[in-house]
Amino acid sequence: MANIDEKVPENVEGPYYVDKSCISCQLCVDRAPGHFRMAEANANSYVFKQPETDMEKKNCDDALETCPVDAIGNDG
Ligand code: SF4
Repeated sequence: MANIDEKVPENVEGPYYVDKSCISCQLCVDRAPGHFRMAEANANSYVFKQPETDMEKKNCDDALETCPVDAIGNDG
């Protein structure tokens, strides 16, 4: 389970976030490229745009469920 106190600093404000346990596998970027991207030097991914529509939320939930280390959280 992602830890809200360990968010990476690049996340935009909002319910979805990536925490510091990210292992940079890029699966979330593949699943939801409109919302997740890799940070400088590919050290981690982060949320650059929060979802607004139901389809965007579904894409972010798919990314959350796909993350192999549970580094994606949703505190909404
Ligand atoms: S799927 Fe998880 S581990 Fe992989 S890049 Fe995204 S947040 Fe990091």
